[in-house]
Amino acid sequence: MAGTLFANGILLLDDGFSRADLLVRDGRIGRIAPAIAPEPDDAVVDLCGDRLVPGFIDMHVHGGGGADFMDGSEGAIRTVCRTHARFGTTTLCPTTLTAPDDEITAFLGTARDLMSGDDRDPSRRDGARIGSVHVEGPWLAPSQAGAQDPAYLLSPSVAHLERLLGACDGVSTVTIAPELDGACECAEWLTERGALPAMGHSDATLAQVRDAVACGFRHMTHFYSAMSTVKRDRGYRIPGMVEAGYLFDEVTVETIADGSHLPHELLRLVWKVKGTGRMALVTDAMRGAGMPEGTYRLGSLKRGRDVIVEDGVARLPDRSGFAGSVCTMDRAVRTVVAAGIALEDALRMASATPARILGMQDRRGRLRPGLDADLVRLDGELNVRMTVVGGRIVFDARNG
Ligand SMILES: [Zn+2]
Repeated sequence: MAGTLFANGILLLDDGFSRADLLVRDGRIGRIAPAIAPEPDDAVVDLCGDRLVPGFIDMHVHGGGGADFMDGSEGAIRTVCRTHARFGTTTLCPTTLTAPDDEITAFLGTARDLMSGDDRDPSRRDGARIGSVHVEGPWLAPSQAGAQDPAYLLSPSVAHLERLLGACDGVSTVTIAPELDGACECAEWLTERGALPAMGHSDATLAQVRDAVACGFRHMTHFYSAMSTVKRDRGYRIPGMVEAGYLFDEVTVETIADGSHLPHELLRLVWKVKGTGRMALVTDAMRGAGMPEGTYRLGSLKRGRDVIVEDGVARLPDRSGFAGSVCTMDRAVRTVVAAGIALEDALRMASATPARILGMQDRRGRLRPGLDADLVRLDGELNVRMTVVGGRIVFDARNG
């Protein structure tokens, strides 16, 4: 069967950058070698010395291109997936916002149909793949709600999880404030079903996080954002979520790497402590990503609220805080490199690390024969020139 040969590239392989060719067969990486001769039917893409790296995996994203996953329609979901593919994302985890159950279940239903439909017929896919869904709320601490609508926050319970997520099919990550009553049982229930219980939007103390880790919590959602840090009580220092994230090696973290949520020094500090293998880059992007600045609705068109996109960030209308980001994964990689972290590490935090956190490391996240041919071509300034999903070119900068 005819394939595609990506020739004359600098590839990010397991042991670093290397000049090589890569042959795609049947949607997967077939061979990687210094000089591969194409078969007569193979298409050839001359990379002209550009870098070819594993496609980016965004574990936490709400929208882009004017659409939000909570809009719930197939058209909206495809718009977000197409928009982020332009910036190198090949797999994303659509992330819900705190909302009434009917809105969350409607979205989950559409996402499941789309995932299974595209798996049966990959030619329908014209943007990033949906890896699995991230349910962010409604089980969050009211004091750390951030831009999540406090009117719909609830205490966690297994019965509610079961009702909302069913068998958990297609859901990988669920963010819960671990200090809330019922959080521990929910983490155990999620772990049994192979999902990832994540801690976030939380005022937990380090002691509470220690208990939560014993219940199965393994990940922290947008590290630093909407979470507790050291507090003083009659002089005593009580460490919070941030310190727990640093201390516990079994906990992985994700960081919004737009350069605004966390300054370069904090990005470097997180990386210094957690390392490339435990720190994933995410966008947490809302519908204004990939769009001109202006006013956009955060969350669903029906129930969301308007926020202002200016200076490369989304802000609450009173400008008291951020309301998600307009980051894209290529910008996250450039930000981390500008913060002084090596390109190789930045790229792995955008691919191999999230793949492992999500349990898809045997299929994606690296350039290796047998893995899905999800690829990004980057120019010298780390701009995306081409995005390939399952061997299909879904974005080519030459065609816009
Ligand atoms: Zn979010």
